[in-house]
Amino acid sequence: MTKTNETHFGALPPLYKYMPNPYPDERIWRCPVCNEKTGQRTLPLLVHVDPGHLIVLKSTCRYCSACELLIVHKHDLEHQLTQVFQELDPAAIGNEYFVLGTLEKQILRQKSQRLQSLEDLRQATHDFKMAYLEARMRQTGWFPKGQEPPIVEPPPSQEWVKPKSRLLHWR
Ligand SMILES: [Zn+2]
Repeated sequence: MTKTNETHFGALPPLYKYMPNPYPDERIWRCPVCNEKTGQRTLPLLVHVDPGHLIVLKSTCRYCSACELLIVHKHDLEHQLTQVFQELDPAAIGNEYFVLGTLEKQILRQKSQRLQSLEDLRQATHDFKMAYLEARMRQTGWFPKGQEPPIVEPPPSQEWVKPKSRLLHWR
């Protein structure tokens, strides 16, 4: 269920455990780890997109303070990424990406909008303490005794995909 976070980028102490939520219509109101109610936290996330882009996106996440678990809504994040990359590098839309960590808001503010260098970015970044695999949800309803409710498979990415079919419409 867990994978170790092998990225060491941020100069600040690691913060938060990261878990993506792949269900577009589900807000995770209860922590998948401890089942307590989650709160909400809006944070700047640092996202690495192949090949070699580092993007800062402000994201509203679900948060469990007991577990330090930050649940990032994958489809919202990919929606934001798609918007950024339509301007920045459309060919990179649909590429592999991963969320490296969070940025310290105060440092971001001091540096105003533009960070001068990769080193500035590093100085403002907390890596995640660890990263979980995507959350999985079980079906609700009635099931035979002894049978675990089946897993609901999340839909694939909707916007952050390679535009294969567009070629068909070109004349
Ligand atoms: Zn929890």
